[in-house]
Amino acid sequence: MAQYDIGIIGGGPGGYVAAIRAAQLGLRVVLFEKDRVGGRCLNWGCIPSKALLRNADVVNLVRDAAKWGIGGVDDATFDLGIAVDRSRKVVEQLVGGVESLLKGAGVTVVTGEASFIAGDRIRANGEEYGVTNAIIATGATTRMLPGVVVDGTVVLTSHEALLVRTPPARAIVIGAGPVGVEFAHTWASYGSRVTIVEMMDTLIPLEDPDMGLLLQRSFQGRGIDSMLKTKVESVSVEGSTAAVAVSKDGATQMLSADAVLIAIGFKPHTEGLNVEAAGVAMERGFVTIDDAMRTNIPNIYAIGDVTGKLMLAHVAMQQAVIAAERIAGKTPPALDYVQMPHAIFCQPQIASIGLMDSQARAAGYAVKVGRFPFSALGKAIAVGQTEGFAKIVADEKTGQVLGVHLIGHDVNELLGEASLAALLEATTVELGFAVHAHPTLAEALKEAALAADGEAIHIARRRPAPPTEVRRCT
Ligand code: FAD
Repeated sequence: MAQYDIGIIGGGPGGYVAAIRAAQLGLRVVLFEKDRVGGRCLNWGCIPSKALLRNADVVNLVRDAAKWGIGGVDDATFDLGIAVDRSRKVVEQLVGGVESLLKGAGVTVVTGEASFIAGDRIRANGEEYGVTNAIIATGATTRMLPGVVVDGTVVLTSHEALLVRTPPARAIVIGAGPVGVEFAHTWASYGSRVTIVEMMDTLIPLEDPDMGLLLQRSFQGRGIDSMLKTKVESVSVEGSTAAVAVSKDGATQMLSADAVLIAIGFKPHTEGLNVEAAGVAMERGFVTIDDAMRTNIPNIYAIGDVTGKLMLAHVAMQQAVIAAERIAGKTPPALDYVQMPHAIFCQPQIASIGLMDSQARAAGYAVKVGRFPFSALGKAIAVGQTEGFAKIVADEKTGQVLGVHLIGHDVNELLGEASLAALLEATTVELGFAVHAHPTLAEALKEAALAADGEAIHIARRRPAPPTEVRRCT
C-alpha cells in the first residue's frame, strides 16, 4: 500500500491549492479527484460564468455603439453559442494549467472517486492508500427546490445553464443571489426577457440593501423584472415550456417560461465519502472544523464549500493554505470569515467586505458611514459608467474601517484594496490620506473614507449651519 503524508479528497480550488502548498512544504501528497481538477470553480462555476459575462459586456457595448459614435452595427448578431465555446476554451486552458502545476509540484493525482476506509486509509479505483493526514475538500452541489425536477433543457441548474447556446426568449431565475443575478444579466444581454423570483425583500439579500435596491432599478431599466417576497410553489414542464406557480401575500400566480434556472444555493457534498468510517463529525451535512481547519479527528482536516463557512473559491484557497501549513507544523493565523471579500459579476458589479452598517450597530459599534457616488468621480464619468456608489462603514470611536460596500461598473477590481485595508485594520483617516492615482475608480474608496469624516473633496456638502450667536474677534 502506497503511503503519503497527506491524502486530499477533491481537486477544486480548496484541494488543488492545499496539494501545491503542502508539496512546497516538502510533504508527500496524493490528490483524489473523481472528475477534473479545478473542481466546480474552474470547470462549472467561477471561470466559465465569468467568461460568459465578459461576452455579455461586449454585447452591451455593441448594443450601445451609437453612444460611442460607432455606426454600421445595426445588423450585428449576438451568438451565445460562440460565447459558450469561448468559455469552454478558457476552462480547458486553466484546468490544463492546474494539471501542470500539480505535476510540477510532484503531487500524485489519482482520477477516481475516493472514500475513507478509516481515518488513515483511503480507497479509490479499488486501491488502498495510507495517509498520515487527510483533507476533505469535496465541495458542494446545487440545492434543489423540493419536488422540482431538473430536466437539463427547460429546468436547469447553473451547470446546464453554462452550456445554453440559444438565449431563452423568456427565462425565470429562481433565487437572486450571485449565481442568479449573474445569469439574469448574461441572458438579458443576449436578449432574453428575464424574471427573477426571490423569497427575500431584495435582490442579493446577503449584501447591503441599498445595493440590492440599486441593482433592482438598474435591472428594471434593462427589462429584467424582479418579483420579491415571492415564493415558488411548483415548477412543471409541458413540452418546451415551464409553468411556474408563485405566491405572494397569499395570492398565487402562474408564470410561463422557456427556461427556469434554479439558483437557490448549495448543499455540502459528502456522498460516497464514507466519513463515518473516519468518525468525522458533521453539522447539517457540513463537516465541522476549528480555526486550524481540523475536524474532530486530529489528523483529518476539511476546507472549502464542504465546511459551509463561506462558499467562495478564494475562501477555499485560503483555508487550503492554512490546512497545509498546519499539517506541516506551521502556525498560520486564523481566518476572519467576516472580513472576506464578496464579488458579484453582473453589471453593475457588487463588491463588499466586512460589516454592513446595520450589522456593525448590532455588534455594538457606534458607526459612521461615508458614501461617494460614481456620478461624482472623474474616471467613472470619463468611461461613461456613473451608476453606483462606494460606501464605507467605520467605527465612530477609532475610525477603523469595518466594512466596504461597492456597486458600479467593474468595482470588483477595487476589492483588493478593501481587503488589505481590512487586514491592516486601516482607519478612515489612513484610507482617506492614502494617495490614489487619478483618474481611477479606486478614488471612490478614498472619497468615501473622507466622507465618513465629513471631508470628501469632490462632493458638495451642505455648509454647517451658522452659529446662532455671532462671535466677534476682539
Ligand atoms: P469544488 O470546487 O466543488 O471542488 C470539489 C471537488 O471534489 C470536485 O471537483 C469534485 O469532483 C471532487 N469530489 C467530490 N467528492 C469526491 C470524491 N469522493 N472523490 C474524489 N473527488 C471528489 N466562487 C467565487 O469565489 N467567485 C465566483 O465568481 C464564483 N462563481 C460561481 C459561479 C457558479 C455558476 C457556481 C456554481 C459557483 C461559483 N462560485 C464562485 C463558487 C465556487 O465555485 C466554490 O466556492 C468553489 O468551487 C469551492 O471550492 P471547493 O474546492 O470547496 O469545492
